[in-house]
Amino acid sequence: METQSRADSDITAEALIKELQRLRDAHCGQCHTPICHHQVLMSMALGFKNAPHCANCMARKLDSTPSDILAPLMTYFDVRDCYRAAWAWAHEQENVEVHNGVPDCLSTCGVAASPQELNAERENVQNTSLGVHAKETPKPLDELEAHSDWDAGAMSCGDLVLELRLRFQSMPPKTILKLCASDISAPQDLPAWCRLTGHKLLRAEPPHYWIQRKE
Ligand SMILES: [Zn+2]
Ligand SMILES: [Zn+2]
Repeated sequence: METQSRADSDITAEALIKELQRLRDAHCGQCHTPICHHQVLMSMALGFKNAPHCANCMARKLDSTPSDILAPLMTYFDVRDCYRAAWAWAHEQENVEVHNGVPDCLSTCGVAASPQELNAERENVQNTSLGVHAKETPKPLDELEAHSDWDAGAMSCGDLVLELRLRFQSMPPKTILKLCASDISAPQDLPAWCRLTGHKLLRAEPPHYWIQRKE
């Protein structure tokens, strides 16, 4: 089992890096400024892999600021071998200085996270069970009325969050989607993605997830 998951994450790291190489010299799908590997990787994690965005445009689309999306993203990369490897690969490719895990190339677009912010975020994640905040009890099953159902099968994370983002885009606010996702990393990735994007994970019983679109 141990060897199996290690092999899986190696393959995923390779796939992520291949995708980053393919998207070399990409431009922001919104404002058309050139974007670096780091911003492409951030785009992939957030569900923008079909049209990578610069940190500023991504933040704006998520009703957030570049600094506010960075701390949770860094934690997200930290605990995933494949993303951590791809993030480090990007540092090497661009030959940038890195402070607290944040590459200098991002500071030009207003992204800055203080060590305090990063630590607070790490603690936050540790106190979170399956992404549902410890203080909040998951919604009881009989109170959950899903408006929409989607069986994503074993779709892998990058594709899954892209498809999810597009689905939520076409739904009215507060719609509840019942999702079935059997990818082995879904129990970690989906709660993290919800935290990053502001959608609410009402209940998680892998492979089923009830997610409410943000307002
Ligand atoms: Zn942009
Ligand atoms: Zn960069």
